[in-house]
Amino acid sequence: MNQFPIIDGHNDTLLKLHQQEKGKGRLFFNESSIGHIDLPRAKKGQFSGGFFAIFCPHPSGSLLPDFEKFATEKGYDLPLSAPAEYEYCHRMTNAMVADLFSLEANSNGSFKVVRTVDELSNLVHKETIAAILHFEGAEAIDTDLDALSVYYQAGLRSIGLVWSRPNAFAQGVPYRYPSTPDIGAGLTESGKSLVRECNQLGIMLDLSHLNEKGFWDVAEISDAPLVATHSNAHTISPISRNLTDKQLDAIAESNGVVGVTYAVNMLRPDGKLNTDTPLEEIVKHIDYIASRIGIEHVVLGSDFDGTTLPDELGDVTGVPKVLELLKNHGFSDKDLCKLTYENWLRVLKNTWK
Ligand SMILES: [Zn+2]
Repeated sequence: MNQFPIIDGHNDTLLKLHQQEKGKGRLFFNESSIGHIDLPRAKKGQFSGGFFAIFCPHPSGSLLPDFEKFATEKGYDLPLSAPAEYEYCHRMTNAMVADLFSLEANSNGSFKVVRTVDELSNLVHKETIAAILHFEGAEAIDTDLDALSVYYQAGLRSIGLVWSRPNAFAQGVPYRYPSTPDIGAGLTESGKSLVRECNQLGIMLDLSHLNEKGFWDVAEISDAPLVATHSNAHTISPISRNLTDKQLDAIAESNGVVGVTYAVNMLRPDGKLNTDTPLEEIVKHIDYIASRIGIEHVVLGSDFDGTTLPDELGDVTGVPKVLELLKNHGFSDKDLCKLTYENWLRVLKNTWK
């Protein structure tokens, strides 16, 4: 039995499968060397389940931001991405939710969408991958929030108000290095209503990609533990997407969690998109956050299939090497159980209804 089954905070695998449908796309159930997760590789990587994000890229925009084009003397300053329209996102989201359910239907029981903590904890030590339906950005939801309850009934259990762009609810943080996350305005009135409604329904709110004013608005309004599914320590890597010490403290105070992400530009002290990044950089962020706020508040939030990873990690199969490094660094088996799955079970128990 896998001693440290991983519940992972964020992946964009659904988008990768969706976009590649027309072409040479990989299939989730067959092992491939394309991208970061498929079922056989997930098993090798101790990936037991996680948040499967639905993200709608702007129809005209490229997915990978052009860091070189927006280089500054000390780093980069990418403009905020253009907003995406509700109709477009609503349609694309429905298509991707349908993809998720067809994966489940065709999986022969090896992949299951979970809606309760019991369902999730029952699968943690089993072979079946547990998928939590997550929206990265709330563009598919109308400001009357009718779609929210429909998606909740379908299985939505986690939502990030924004990706790094503005929408009707909030403003995402642009990629800027060096910079604090304090760029732009806080939540709109619709954003505040969305937070309250998510609390009411028991949908987790994800603070990654939200700017700092928005973060504090959610901290004030929400009665659930604060969660950032894929963000690192700003003190180590001072990019706008990472969390300041004050934000880390607020997450701990709410009994929430931070998902340490493997995005090289959010790990590295120089913020560069350089894949020659040792795995020790991941350990440093976990160690820093655990020392400051406790290992009870740290989880893993890979961003597989959505970001640029260290070469040494490669894909999901590289994660056991990180756990090995953490052991060598002095993390106990108990600590690693908390990091890999126990903290998530606690937070979701306190969040989902
Ligand atoms: Zn993201």
